[in-house]
Parts: sequence; structure tokens; C-alpha cells
Amino acid sequence: GRKFFVGGNWKCNGTIEEVKKIVTILNEAEVPSEDVVEVVVSPPFIFLSVVKNLLRSDFHVAAQNCWVRKGGAFTGEVSAEMLINLGIPWVILGHSERRQLLNESNEFVGDKVAYALSQGLKVIACVGETLEQRESGSTLDVVAAQTKAIADKVSNWDNIVLAYEPVWAIGTGKVATPAQAQEVHLELRKWIHNNVGAEVAASIRIIYGGSVNGGNSKELATQPDVDGFLVGGASLKPEFIDIIKSAT
Ligand code: 13P
Repeated sequence: GRKFFVGGNWKCNGTIEEVKKIVTILNEAEVPSEDVVEVVVSPPFIFLSVVKNLLRSDFHVAAQNCWVRKGGAFTGEVSAEMLINLGIPWVILGHSERRQLLNESNEFVGDKVAYALSQGLKVIACVGETLEQRESGSTLDVVAAQTKAIADKVSNWDNIVLAYEPVWAIGTGKVATPAQAQEVHLELRKWIHNNVGAEVAASIRIIYGGSVNGGNSKELATQPDVDGFLVGGASLKPEFIDIIKSAT
């Protein structure tokens, strides 16, 4: 079976005081064991060390981005080697906010994923269509092209979690229905089956993101190809615990 995965993407939010408060809430929560659910929270870079040092040991941390290749003269960037050096195990790559606001192309994201994996990071790789793309019927083509750009650069998928995050559902309160999420997750799994391999298709976690909250996570989690969540807004609130609990 695929272990349920719940990621909390804090995006560009929080003060040091707020971050410490969230960590305290997480540390005091009673949740299913690490054998049942993998929990990863992703603070802004500047809070990564603080969170890593204060966070309970059964939860893990992720960076929200890293540089595409080896570090050097790239002002403002943080390299995969630096994350490994500080003991940060995970990185989120290809988030739609970076694709859209920072013009990250499919190919650039593919390069980032490959480089991060080569340095020993585990990657939450994000794909998802815009509202316009969904309405024009190109959802599956879009997510397949985004996934292909990763597959073109990567041969070992063991350390990848694929996050399906429809752009129209992110931060909008317009969550995908369980059927909508399941449909795309199943198609992504089929694409991986046909283009990467049966074993990877069976084992890869495909998680859903976009307006997940404590009230809708349980039903989404019943879908056979929904293996967890990547949570934005609700990951900053105590209801994140309820989302973690939807693993069981
Ligand atoms: P929201 O949960 O705030 O919609 O954000 C989802 C997301 O982008 C997680 O990466």
C-alpha cells in the first residue's frame, strides 16, 4: 500500500511568533503514527531551521523551492546542496504559483526535480491546470505534459510525490469534487504506467491540493487514487490536524 502523505505548504506567510505557535500546536497533536501517515510541513526558507529544530521528530520539513543546479553566483537562490547540508529532507518544486508568477516552464521544473533528486532530496512535484485549460478540455494534456517534462529528466521515481493541484482550486475555496480529483489522479497514474512503468505507477503517491480543509479532506481521502494532500491555507490552522487524521 501507499502510505498516506499530508504536506502543509505555508507559502510566504508567518512571523517567527506565529511559526512557533503553529509548531507548538503540531507538537501537541495526537495523530496516527508515522507508519500510517507521513507529515511534512513547508515553512518559508527563513524559518526552515527554526521549524526543523523545534518540530516533533515524526514530522518532517520541506523547502518550497530550490535552485535548478549547483549553487554559485545566483543571488537570492538557495541550492539543493544547502538544504541537504542543513538536514532538510524534502523540497516542493513546480508549484503553480512559481510556474505562473515566476514563469517556471515545464522544462525548468523537470531540471529542478532531477537536480534535487541527484543531491538526495525528496521532491513534492506539483502539476495542475488553470480554469481556462479545464474549460477548454485540456486538463489531461496539461498535466501529462507537466509530468512528461519531469519523466524526461528523471529515471528513479522512488523519492517523488506527485501533487495534483488544479490552479482554479488553489486559495479559492473551490475544492475539486472527490470525483474530479479521482479522475485526474487515475489518469496521471495511467500516464505513469504507460510512460514510466507499472511498478512506479503502483507505488507513487499522488496527492491532491487546492482548498483542502478539515471539512472536505475525509471524503477526498476515500478516493482510491488520492494518496494524501498538499494543503495551503488550512495548514496554518489547527484544522491541519483533522486533515492529517483523514489518513485513517
Ligand atoms: P490552498 O489549500 O490554500 O488552496 O493552497 C493549496 C496549495 O497551493 C498547496 O500547495
